[in-house]
Amino acid sequence: TKSLVWFRRDLRHFDNAALYQALKQSNSCYCVFIFDKVILQGLPKRDRRVQFIHQSIQELRAELQALGTHLIVRYGDPVEEIPRLAAELQINAVFVNRDYEPAAIQRDHTVQQHLLSFNCDFIDCKDQVIFDKDEVLSLAGKPFSVFTPYKNAWLKKLASETEGEADFYFKPYPVKKYAGHFAPHTETTMPSLASMGFEELSEQDLKLHGGMSAGAALLEDFLERIDHYGHARDFPAIKGPSYLSVHLRFGTVSIRYLVSQAMRQIRTANAMEGASVWLSELVWRDFYFMILYHNPRVVGHAYKPEYDAIQWESGSSAQELFQAWCDGKTGYPLVDAAMLQLNQTGYMHNRLRMVVASFLVKDLGIDWRWGEAYFALHLNDFDLSANNGGWQWAASTGCDAQPYFRIFNPITQSEKFDSEGKFIRRYLPQLAKLNAKQIHAPWKLSPIELAAMNLQLGRDYPYPIVAHDVARLRTLERYSVVKKIS
Ligand code: FAD
Repeated sequence: TKSLVWFRRDLRHFDNAALYQALKQSNSCYCVFIFDKVILQGLPKRDRRVQFIHQSIQELRAELQALGTHLIVRYGDPVEEIPRLAAELQINAVFVNRDYEPAAIQRDHTVQQHLLSFNCDFIDCKDQVIFDKDEVLSLAGKPFSVFTPYKNAWLKKLASETEGEADFYFKPYPVKKYAGHFAPHTETTMPSLASMGFEELSEQDLKLHGGMSAGAALLEDFLERIDHYGHARDFPAIKGPSYLSVHLRFGTVSIRYLVSQAMRQIRTANAMEGASVWLSELVWRDFYFMILYHNPRVVGHAYKPEYDAIQWESGSSAQELFQAWCDGKTGYPLVDAAMLQLNQTGYMHNRLRMVVASFLVKDLGIDWRWGEAYFALHLNDFDLSANNGGWQWAASTGCDAQPYFRIFNPITQSEKFDSEGKFIRRYLPQLAKLNAKQIHAPWKLSPIELAAMNLQLGRDYPYPIVAHDVARLRTLERYSVVKKIS
């Protein structure tokens, strides 16, 4: 029998569920990746993610070539390309790793229907999560809506499934064992970035590396400092988190391997705390995939429907406030430095994502969906489930036990998490001369102090576009509509 593995967000040849199943279940296995024209057409011409994918595909092709096959790479609409290729190669089954986004589910369904018309199966495997959408349920058999009980049930299931395994939590799928089943395909062309309408960014502008080897190098670096993660992860000026999110997004690392590594560290006394906190973050990732799958309405709507009654700021003044936020010109240094980090690198530290999201929604009164869309366009690691979950969490419209009157104060957040102002100075050199006390709220400086530093507000750095205390009261009023109808 012949199979076709359709790679999507799983750009690795090792420990890949669909690839393993296809090789195991067939004796002639082809591999394909389609640059999806429909998605790519909506992106800016300089897009780090497209280049990341392109680099990752190059590495995957080389690895597959070493195993005896060629990755077929096309540019087009997969809904047409996959059935066409399957028919051309007389494939019996197309194997994929499951996707949980509503648009991807719809796309896969359409492809499956086309394949059925010539008796070709469509087999989807669990790969991008540890536990699938229906594998962790409440005692009543329902999907969870709150994180902590979900996490407890998730950890319990992990413990029960891996009981007795001394050295590993998940055995990697032994892809190489069936390497003899690869079809000796010899197609060698691959669309260039330019042929798909994209400009190639320089190493300096790209600031990241695609591919499995880059993912493995980041992981190795992180495992050496994982014991500090619990504390270090909250301070954007230091190297605390793993920076693996973009690799998780495109599957250049294996989530099973990451969880195995975290569990291994948990068992070694000195790294226990950091690794447990990190594992929790990986559970959040599964949680939001599960939430999105069971509640596709969260795309465009509040998870808690009563919050859709909130009236957000509108009109040209809202547009101006939003633009200032996007450009890092709000006058709140931590917010602005964070937005510049996003604009200049495609990454933003988790603490800062929470700060800027809260600021947009609760200080500027702007609809969380505007911020969600901006992140979707600019984040290297943009993932619909985590992004939507993060934004709804910040806007208090999502799965969070905290009430809406938890409003981050952008100044105290700055004092607490960037106390020396090191992160701010990295992105706002015009504030470099301000000391650790002054840097969080430059408008509080006296004219004499400002003059002494040759800093002119309104010229070198903006005045704050909103007063936090006033905005806070306005937000409480704005959200009170929720109380009235619920
Ligand atoms: P680490 O701290 O090393 O965490 C390890 C991994 O755990 C991450 O790579 C990620 O896969 C997962 N993770 C961590 N926190 C979360 C979380 N809250 N929800 C889901 N998964 C998590 N993460 C994305 O991957 N894509 C997004 O589009 C995204 N948008 C966000 C938007 C907002 C408003 C907020 C508040 C958070 C968002 N996050 C998103 C979650 C989190 O900020 C990033 O995963 C994290 O900053 C990535 O950096 P890291 O890999 O160094 O993280």
